[in-house]
Amino acid sequence: MSGADKPQARDRAALTAVLVALFSVVSTATLFFVTERGGHLSGFGTGALALIAGVFLCRRVSRRAGSDTPVREFWRLWSIAVGFLLWSSASSLVCELRGDPGMPIYEAIPTVCCLAAAMLTFRHAPLGRRTGSDWSRVLLDGAAVAVAGALFFGYVVVDLAPAGTPLTDRWTSGIVGVVCLLALVVFGKAAVSPAGRVDPSALALLAGAPLIGLGAVGILLSGDETGTRLLAILGYPLGGLSISLAAYRQSLVLTRKGDARAGARPRWSVADPVVFLAVAGTAALVITVSARDLDVRGRAVIVGAVLIAAIVVTRQLVGLRENREALRTVRRQQAELEHLALSDSLTGLRNRTGFSVALAARLDEGLPAGALLIDIDDFKMVNDTIGPSAADQLLRQIAQRLLETCADGEIAARLGGDEFAVLLPTGDPASAEAAATRFQRAVGSPVTSAGQQLLLHASVGIAVADDDETADEVLRNADIAMYAAKEAGKASWVRFEPQMRQDMTTHARLAGELHDGIAAGQLRLLYQPVFDLVTGTMSGAEALVRWQHPERGFVSPGDFIPVAERSGLIVPLGAWVLREACSQLARWRAAHGDDAIEAINVNVAVRQLREADFVDFVAATLSEHGLTPADVILEVTESSVVDGWQVRDTLQALHDMGIRLALDDFGTGQSSLSLLRAFPVDVLKLDKSFVDGIADGADRGRLAVAAAVAQLTEHLQLKAVAEGIESQEQMDRLRQMGYRYGQGFFMARPLPADECAAMFVRPFAGASPGRAG
Ligand code: C2E
Ligand code: MG
Ligand code: MG
Repeated sequence: MSGADKPQARDRAALTAVLVALFSVVSTATLFFVTERGGHLSGFGTGALALIAGVFLCRRVSRRAGSDTPVREFWRLWSIAVGFLLWSSASSLVCELRGDPGMPIYEAIPTVCCLAAAMLTFRHAPLGRRTGSDWSRVLLDGAAVAVAGALFFGYVVVDLAPAGTPLTDRWTSGIVGVVCLLALVVFGKAAVSPAGRVDPSALALLAGAPLIGLGAVGILLSGDETGTRLLAILGYPLGGLSISLAAYRQSLVLTRKGDARAGARPRWSVADPVVFLAVAGTAALVITVSARDLDVRGRAVIVGAVLIAAIVVTRQLVGLRENREALRTVRRQQAELEHLALSDSLTGLRNRTGFSVALAARLDEGLPAGALLIDIDDFKMVNDTIGPSAADQLLRQIAQRLLETCADGEIAARLGGDEFAVLLPTGDPASAEAAATRFQRAVGSPVTSAGQQLLLHASVGIAVADDDETADEVLRNADIAMYAAKEAGKASWVRFEPQMRQDMTTHARLAGELHDGIAAGQLRLLYQPVFDLVTGTMSGAEALVRWQHPERGFVSPGDFIPVAERSGLIVPLGAWVLREACSQLARWRAAHGDDAIEAINVNVAVRQLREADFVDFVAATLSEHGLTPADVILEVTESSVVDGWQVRDTLQALHDMGIRLALDDFGTGQSSLSLLRAFPVDVLKLDKSFVDGIADGADRGRLAVAAAVAQLTEHLQLKAVAEGIESQEQMDRLRQMGYRYGQGFFMARPLPADECAAMFVRPFAGASPGRAG
């Protein structure tokens, strides 16, 4: 059997079990009218089959993988109770075959055990948390029903039962009647329990058993002998049927909803009319007894007393109604307040608190759960482009899409800004990944906002809850994974791995050490000369930072610059680099006069450009060292340029001041020609990856890009610098293509200041490549 049709086959088995129970009822009733003994045998024999069907269905619900554990436990305990009933029916069958009359001890014992097990089941039923007053209400209702039932049955059984009914039958039916009434109260209360997780309709079907019991008592007392005998033998089949139907209904609900609690709970329960009937019945009984046994005055007193009691009860009921009304208003207001506190005003989705509450509730119940953290890529830029109100509209559209994409049990939320989350009702990594792809696609289809068609992408972090993980931990893991997705190049999803947390810790530790390292003067600058490829003279130098860690040794900027960027340390670090580079240029000018390079290149990270006072800081640093804006070239990457209006304004202000800007690593980011028009760029630095392999011409695509960039820069009158030149051939080819400037290990590695200065007047053709860097 293939995996796909297995659940169907199992459902067929469940349906067959229900049909067996139904068959038991029908065959018993039919046989009874054909031959009474046949009916008896069928009642106990097929009754046992119906009960086996009941046990089978209860066990099936109790073994359902992935569903609510307390609900499974409830049905497991039920299967035990039904098991005892099965034992009882088997004993009856044996008695019947042997021709033994009455209810022997070995039939009574399992019946009592069954009752005990049923009570235990309800004691452990997942009916939500109950307060002391809840319990006392149940107890009081139960006591009222028990007393009234005892009075009623006691009196009716003793006095009203048809003559000739044996005493044991009277008492047995009396006790059965009281027990069945009590069972109705318990089932009824359970079915309306607001926090209950067992399906209310399944509980209502279970209540079929006590109703059958009451019916039996009624028929017994009515004196209809055939009916009495029929019901006596139909007890087991009907019991089996009611239990089978209840378990079957529960399994259907679980299949459909995946969550046992999903069924709406009725507002009133069968327990309420039972309690009311108990009181009314007792009053009727009192009046009946008084009518028979008392004189007129005595009867008037009794009627008066009952009337007074009725008035008091009515008054109580009116008060109760008012209380209920008030309570309903308070609940409604409370729900509205809760809704406000837990939902996001812009999109109507749940907010961060609402999401955490839902996730925590699932985890508290021991249910499997996962979280997707969805962050819209480059939303800041979109926001700047289309304006805040259109961006809000866009966020609403995204929220709507997420909502429409949610499968059963999934909950979408907006955590803030452009960050969304989805609660997954699964702990299975593969399903969580499939959900991530689904939501990513939903965000990725074009949207129209402010008359423009936009294509958005999202980075998604996935985390599935492990044992004992809290909602906060799951969310934090999803967040870590989302950052990993962003770093992996956006528009992708990444599933959280414990290793990532270690990486975070390592980064945090490195950031701490870097912080101390900056203060302790462990950083220094090297300078890599930039040469004029035609004349062979040095035209400038790029300042490159180095970290000499006391224990780790040399740490590459490729390792610590990303850490500094993420932690924000890049701001003080970058400030130090700019100051140090300016001071070095000033010292070179003082020592070498006109031989010194005309400008120094300094790398600037986007975090620095986002600082409000960055332009002032640069101006102050320049004047501090007696330099002019023409003396520095700031190198920025393409991703900084597309960061948003604030960074764009900063770059424009720097350019207006007279500082030249170089686009670093050109060709690796979101290079677009429109970028070159929008951004006041002066220098283009062709990325090393285009220079690699240029000599043998193996990569035609890259070769074409390198050539096109040279032509473009000439056309736009920009300065083109080729990075990472490692051989003579590379240099020759680049020169042929039209590159005037270049830097690379072939000419010079990054050097200490004095070694760099030694090259000011020495063309690189005579310099020996491969020096310290
Ligand atoms: P970048 O700005 O593109 O710097 C050029 C990198 O290429 C330098 O690596 C340089 O040593 C290396 N390089 C130059 N010629 C060659 C060559 O012929 N072959 C090879 N294999 N490599 C060559 P470095 O110094 O490790 O810096 C790496 C990156 O770290 C820099 O790339 C820059 O993005 C960043 N960085 C370095 N210093 C700073 C700084 O002070 N501030 C900021 N924000 N970033 C910095
Ligand atoms: Mg650079
Ligand atoms: Mg570069």
